[in-house]
Amino acid sequence: MTGVHSLLPDGHPGLLLPPGQHEDLPRYLAAGGYAPLPDPEPLLDRVAGAGLRGRGGAGFPTAVKLRAVRDAAGPAVVVANGEEGEPGSVKDRWLLRHRPHTVLDGLRLAAAVTGARRTVVYLSDTAAERAVRRALAERPADPRVDVVRTEHTYVAGEETAVVRRVDGGPALPAAKPPRPYESGVGGAPTLVANVETLARIALLHTHPDADGAAVAEGHLVTLAGSGGRAAALAEVPAGTHLKVLADLCGHGRAEAVLLGGMFGGLHGPGWADLPLDHDQLKAAGGALGCGALHFLEPEDCPLAVAADATAYLAAQSARQCGVCVSGTGALAAALRAVAAGDAAADTADRLGRWSAQLPGRGACGLLDAAARVAGSLLAHFPGQIDAHQDAGCAACRRARPGDGHRFAVRVP
Ligand code: SF4
Repeated sequence: MTGVHSLLPDGHPGLLLPPGQHEDLPRYLAAGGYAPLPDPEPLLDRVAGAGLRGRGGAGFPTAVKLRAVRDAAGPAVVVANGEEGEPGSVKDRWLLRHRPHTVLDGLRLAAAVTGARRTVVYLSDTAAERAVRRALAERPADPRVDVVRTEHTYVAGEETAVVRRVDGGPALPAAKPPRPYESGVGGAPTLVANVETLARIALLHTHPDADGAAVAEGHLVTLAGSGGRAAALAEVPAGTHLKVLADLCGHGRAEAVLLGGMFGGLHGPGWADLPLDHDQLKAAGGALGCGALHFLEPEDCPLAVAADATAYLAAQSARQCGVCVSGTGALAAALRAVAAGDAAADTADRLGRWSAQLPGRGACGLLDAAARVAGSLLAHFPGQIDAHQDAGCAACRRARPGDGHRFAVRVP
């Protein structure tokens, strides 16, 4: 099943609109949008009490970030980050195209809470930009919002890359510290917030009587897999089992999943019982990341998927950190050799060593993603390297490693 789907209980506040419907100002006002600004503290308490976590990938508590920016010295900046670098994710582009007022209202509320004087929408998608500019033209004028275009790359949405691009530089990550909440756009304390995070702040405000935890725990997920099926975008309650999500998008035969875009790695036996939950996926050695799931059918080869993902990540490296250039390149080359039936006898040992040693050594998460893909292949599919020795397999021979084609999805 393609398109958009909601698994939220009836009457529960959510972000998805039925197919073909777009959010305009009358619709958003009728839903309680752009309500008078609240006092910052009660709204902060509502966000904290709801347990809202960032939806860009890291899952950091949103209230903690809001407070850090509010309490830092100097007038703040808030950036609505709509640039989703994971090729398997469409939720942020969908939100900007179809719920621009909800995102802009969340941006307005975050600015009020942090005392920001400057707000920015950061994006690369042309259709999203059109929708945002249309919404800006019809909504209340305050606060002023700038739209900053970026290129669409894996790293362009990383928070320090966002800051550099908004400041007129390249969309490339910078070393941390300082983090943007300390010194971001123009040196000001800056909140870089994913657009779904902002939209959920708006939902919490426009539905004051709703159960905050349930609003905050709703997730937009992008579901895709092999076989050329278009992606499904779904809004689901936290804790939904991954098997339910596979069935929802027509991949009920799936035997494995690549989680988090690429950031959460591959998961094999037992994957179907995993719940969509930051902490439980982390405990299982994965990560929810941006909520993109790519299901592997029985015909798919996990090694081909891992080789493809690491080759893509190596090609997307911003080539700023020596360890990333050599590390992603080495991981990709080793997996490519295994896929070709051409690997040296110690390849599994080297992959295991690298996947343990490389995470955390680059300026952004790209290197971590590549290491996790390789490490998860070894952990969850231990026989794959030996099985490919000498001959490879048909699925690997069909693969086109490195172009990201396998993972790319269209916005429904
Ligand atoms: S880790 Fe890689 S992608 Fe990230 S900043 Fe360094 S070189 Fe660029």
